[in-house]
Amino acid sequence: IPVDPFDLVIFGGTGDLARRKILPGLYRRFCSGQMEDNSRIIGAARSEHSTEEFRQMVADAIAEFDPKSGTPEMRAEFLERLEYVQVDALGDAGWQDLAALMSPGRVRAFYFSVAPSLFGALAERLHTHGIADDQTRIVVEKPFGHDLASAKALNADLAAHFDESQIYRIDHYLGKETVQNLMAVRFGNMLFEPLWNAQYVDHIQITVAETVGVGGRGEYYDKSGAMRDMVQNHLMQLLCLIAMEPPAKFDHDAVRDEKLKVIRALEQVPLQDVVRGQYLAAGADEPGYLEHVENADSKTESFIAMKLRVSNWRWAGTPIYLRTGKRLKARSSEIAVVFKETPHSIFGADAGRHRNVLTIRLQPNEGMDLFVTIKEPGPGGMRLVDVPLDMTFAEALGPDAEDVPDAYERLIMDVIRGNQTLFMRGDEVEAAWAWADPLIASWEERGDKPVAYESGSTGPEEALALMHRDGRRWREIR
Ligand code: NAD
Repeated sequence: IPVDPFDLVIFGGTGDLARRKILPGLYRRFCSGQMEDNSRIIGAARSEHSTEEFRQMVADAIAEFDPKSGTPEMRAEFLERLEYVQVDALGDAGWQDLAALMSPGRVRAFYFSVAPSLFGALAERLHTHGIADDQTRIVVEKPFGHDLASAKALNADLAAHFDESQIYRIDHYLGKETVQNLMAVRFGNMLFEPLWNAQYVDHIQITVAETVGVGGRGEYYDKSGAMRDMVQNHLMQLLCLIAMEPPAKFDHDAVRDEKLKVIRALEQVPLQDVVRGQYLAAGADEPGYLEHVENADSKTESFIAMKLRVSNWRWAGTPIYLRTGKRLKARSSEIAVVFKETPHSIFGADAGRHRNVLTIRLQPNEGMDLFVTIKEPGPGGMRLVDVPLDMTFAEALGPDAEDVPDAYERLIMDVIRGNQTLFMRGDEVEAAWAWADPLIASWEERGDKPVAYESGSTGPEEALALMHRDGRRWREIR
């Protein structure tokens, strides 16, 4: 379905994120016919470029990051939609040129793909130069704050110029098809919701494993670590969708109210339920974490695992285990809802222990599986085996199921439509920091050093022990 014509300005339009994700994503939406003929995309950044140079930069980015979509004609048509304007977020140069480019009477969206320290200045200048109106939406990138105080300050800077209904805090995990499918499966079926509680669910695991190290981002990453970079935002959002109560309707505030309640119900995590790690070098070519950062004594974690408790009626007694890290065995993100065993096995001890598991895979191969226990085929007697029911339904849904927009594409189109359901509200972000801050402070006060783990492994041994001591184990990272 095409969206109304819009003007989208990408501040930081020449940056890495714009080149890798935002502009190729917009190109794909264009190829799918979602962009009305006169919609425009304006790159805005500090460096001097002509519109022609910017178009060439975007052509190169599409060739590099999405060489398969569309045709050469489509590419040429898309590039014609692009303009470039040089503006300085911290000065007044260029803003009148930007104002002159705006089309009257249509949706204006401004994507702040720049360092968060510039968010306040951009918000203010959009107003002082008369570019923002009631139809204006702003999109802000992570990191949204470093702690509760800085997140509050960012929220206040934006709130000084924009209403909360105009602010879209992006978390691309929420734009993933499977994450939304999770809500459809939970709230669109009678089958799951009655079992979705501590009485039937043994535990939940959320894993986000990366194979890359911190590489060239060492200095930035070292000030943040896995807790701030991944848990406080992405894993927290996944946890909310898994654990929240059914909202009364699929509406932005109803969904976000329920997510907020989950964050507020999180218990403080004792340090014995947390494992923090740092990866070691793998040979001469792959340096370890400490060689990637300036501070050879750095206590920042590149891996974290923890056991969480959601203190409410639904989840009392069912832990949620999270883990995320760099330089792990495989690039793989998965949520697993592990159900309890049947109360009694009629098949005897030899049949083994079996549990239903619902897995929601975010990458690779987005999809869902429900593992059910069946009889092993053949004449060998009543032997049981767990097999996955594939719930991606690619075959049943036909070619449409293949043309799934990537997270950024979908989220940008939601901004144009004015749908905030998949964006974080200011109070959610603050609540997540309010939960994370004391935990971070507790290991910082003790001066805890992360434990070392091998590159290409599943993380530190201690993280395995975190589960083993509860008689559980992590699902394989593959
Ligand atoms: P980048 O350094 O590659 O690009 C920054 C952009 O900001 C450039 O276009 C630059 O010209 C512009 N800029 C800098 N100072 C400016 C000023 N004073 N006025 C106007 N423009 C200015 O950064 P990036 O990697 O594209 O990241 C942008 C934002 O997105 C950051 O907040 C980052 O944390 C976030 N982010 C990036 C990624 C990623 O994969 N790159 C992922 C998630 C979030």
